[in-house]
Amino acid sequence: MRPLVLDTLFRSIRTLSGVGPKHAKAFEKLLGGERIIDLLWHKPLDIIDRRHSPKLRDAKAGQVVTTTVTILQHQLPKRRGLPARVVASDDTATLDLVFFNAHRDWIEKTYPVNAQVVISGRVEPYNNRLQMVHPDHAGKPEDLASIAKIEPIYPMTAGIGPKQLAKPMDEALKVLPDLPEWLDAPLVQSRNWPTWKAAMQALHAPESAADFEPTTPVRQRLAYDELLARQLAMQMVRLRIKKLKGRAFSIDTALRTRFLKSLPFEMTGAQTMAIADIDADMAEPSRMLRLLQGDVGSGKTVVAMAALLNAVGAGAQGAIMAPTEILARQHAETLGPIASAIGVSIAVLTGRDKGKQREAIAEAIRSGAAQIIIGTHALFQEDVAFKDLGLVIIDEQHRFGVHQRLMLSDKGVAPDVLVMTATPIPRTLTLTLYGDMDVSRLHEKPPGRKPVDTRLLSIDRIGDVVAGLKRKIATGARAYWVCPLVEESELIDLAAATERHADLQQHFGARVGLLHGKMKPTDKDKVMAAFMAGELDVLVATTVIEVGVNVPEATVMVIEHAERFGLAQLHQLRGRVGRGLDASACILLYTAPLSEMGKQRLSVMRDTEDGFLIAEKDLELRGAGELLGTRQSGLPAFRMADVEAHGDLMQMAHTEAKLIAERDPMLTSRRGEALKALLYLFSQDQAIQTIRSG
Ligand code: ADP
Ligand code: MG
Repeated sequence: MRPLVLDTLFRSIRTLSGVGPKHAKAFEKLLGGERIIDLLWHKPLDIIDRRHSPKLRDAKAGQVVTTTVTILQHQLPKRRGLPARVVASDDTATLDLVFFNAHRDWIEKTYPVNAQVVISGRVEPYNNRLQMVHPDHAGKPEDLASIAKIEPIYPMTAGIGPKQLAKPMDEALKVLPDLPEWLDAPLVQSRNWPTWKAAMQALHAPESAADFEPTTPVRQRLAYDELLARQLAMQMVRLRIKKLKGRAFSIDTALRTRFLKSLPFEMTGAQTMAIADIDADMAEPSRMLRLLQGDVGSGKTVVAMAALLNAVGAGAQGAIMAPTEILARQHAETLGPIASAIGVSIAVLTGRDKGKQREAIAEAIRSGAAQIIIGTHALFQEDVAFKDLGLVIIDEQHRFGVHQRLMLSDKGVAPDVLVMTATPIPRTLTLTLYGDMDVSRLHEKPPGRKPVDTRLLSIDRIGDVVAGLKRKIATGARAYWVCPLVEESELIDLAAATERHADLQQHFGARVGLLHGKMKPTDKDKVMAAFMAGELDVLVATTVIEVGVNVPEATVMVIEHAERFGLAQLHQLRGRVGRGLDASACILLYTAPLSEMGKQRLSVMRDTEDGFLIAEKDLELRGAGELLGTRQSGLPAFRMADVEAHGDLMQMAHTEAKLIAERDPMLTSRRGEALKALLYLFSQDQAIQTIRSG
C-alpha cells in the first residue's frame, strides 16, 4: 500500500483552491496528471524579478516595475479592435494601462477610478507616454509585498496562466509533508543536500539564474532521487525476473563445435567473450537477463545463434524476436542454412502468417517440432504456445521497454532473456534503459571491413551525386537512397520518397525501387528481394531499412536531409553499406544553411565510424531526449534528472540500487519503507507491485 505520509500529495489538485472544474482538464493536460504531486513536479523554467519599485518618473523602458498607482480615468474603446486604456499615476508621472479585448465590467472592478492599485508589469514608452500592456498583477495596496518579489515562471498552456498556477502551487507547497529520508545519511551530509521537502520548496523559489543550474545541491538531490527511483524500480524488475526459477542449461559442446565448424569464419575475440558470458548465465539456475550491445555489423547474429543452440542442445526451444517482418525474415535467411547444416529445425512466425499456414506453424511451435523460432512480436500473442521455451532473444530492443521485457518473460515458463541492440548508446543511457540487465559489448568488428568513405554535400549538388551514382552503378554497384524523416508525419515522408523515386527513375529507369512503411508486407518483400537479387540498382526508402538489413553488394548510401536524422540513426543507416568486399561510400546530403550544431553533428559522422563514440558525441551535442527520439527509444522522460548533466549521479544511483536490492529486496527495513515512498513520488510504484506479485 502507498505510505500514508503521501496521502496529501496524492490528493486530486481539484481539492486546491483555484483549480475549479473549469480548469481541471487543462491542468491535467499541462501536468500529465491530476494529483498534487504532479503539480509539484511542474518546475519553473525562469524567473521574473518584480522587486523594482521605482517612481514612475524613474522607470526605465522595458523594466518590470511593481508599484502603487492611483486610477485616474478609463478610456474605453470607441470601436472594436482598439484597446482600452486606464490612466493611472503616482505622484511623479502618469502611466497608461493598456488592455486588448478586456471587458468593461472587469476593468471597472479591477481598476476602479480613484482607487489605489498595486500593479506589476513591463513598462514601455509609447507616443511619448509611459504604458504597461496588460499588467501581470493587480492588487490592493496591502498586496505590494506579496507581488514585489522574484516570481517563478512555469510552463503554461491555454487556459492556465501564471495566476492560475500560482495559487494552487502556493497551497501545494504549504502542504508538503516531511517525508522520512530515503537517502543514505553520509551521502546527504557529504554533498550538503537539503531534505526532499526543503529541496522542493527551493525548487519553486528560485532566486537567480544560478538556481537553474543542474549542479546546485537542490537540483542534484532531486535528480538523484529520481535516478535512484528509476534504478531501484529496474532492480525490482530484475529481482522479479531472476526470482522465477530458470533452469541450468548444460552446454552441449558437441553441438557448439559443429556450429563453429559450419561457419566460414572464426569468431572474433569479442564474440567469443560474449558467448562465454552467455554460457555462464545460461548454466546458472537463475535466469539470464543480458544485453548484447554491438554496433551494426559487429556480428551479433552468430552470438545469438550460439545462445539459441544452448537451449536447443538441452532439449528446449529458443526464440528470437525482431522488430520488423523484414528483419525476422532476414534472420531466418541467415540462420536457416546454419541450422539445417547442423540438423536443427527453424520456424518463422510473423503477423503476416494467417489462417492455415499460421496454424501449422503454431502447431510446430506447440509440439516442439520447431526448435528455433524466429518472429516478430506476433510470437508473443495469446494463441502461440511453446512446448518448452528456454531462451528468448529480443533483437534491436530499444523499441521495447522494461515492462514489455517483464511481460514477455511471463509467457509460460521462465526463459532466459537476451536482448540485442545495434544502437550503441552512451553508458549512462545504457543504465537508464537497461539498468536491470547485465551487459556484454561487442567492441570489435569482424576483420576485413573497409571503412566507409563519408562525404557531406549540399543538396544543390544532387546533380553531381546522381552522375556519380551512374558511374558506380555502371561498375555493378547498388545503392540505397534514404529520404527524410519528418517527425510525426509518415505521409510527408512518403511524399518525399515517392517524389524522389519518380525523379530517379528519370535517370535510372525501371531499376529503381521504392520501399516505405505503408506498403503491404508482401510488396515490401518483393522490392527487398529484387534489390537483394540485383534486379534493382537503387532502392529509395524511408527509414524502414534502418535496422539490420543486410545486402553486402550495396555499397552506396545516400541520405537526404541528413541534418534531420539523429546521429544514431545516421550511423545505423550507414551501417547498411560497407558489408561486402568492395569499398563503400556514404553521402550525407544536407539543406543549407546548416546550424552550427548541425555542422558539428554531420562532421562527427564524417570523421568516425565508431558507434559508441558517435553516441557519446550525440549525447554531448543534443542531450538525451533527442538522442534516440523519446518515442522510439522507450527512454522515459525525466522530471528532474538530466542524463548528460547528471551522468555521474546515474552511475551512483545504479550502484546504490543494486546494493539496496541485495540487502532489502522486499523494502521492509525502515529505509526500505522510505524508499517505497520515493518510488511512489516518481511514479515507479509498479515496481512495488512487482515485488509483491513476484
Ligand atoms: P549485426 O547483427 O551485429 O549487425 P551480423 O551478425 O549481421 O551483424 O554480422 C554482419 C556480417 O558479418 C554477417 O555477414 C556475418 O556473417 C559476418 N560475420 C559475423 N561474425 C564474423 C566473424 N567473426 N568474422 C567474419 N565475418 C563475420
Ligand atoms: Mg543484426
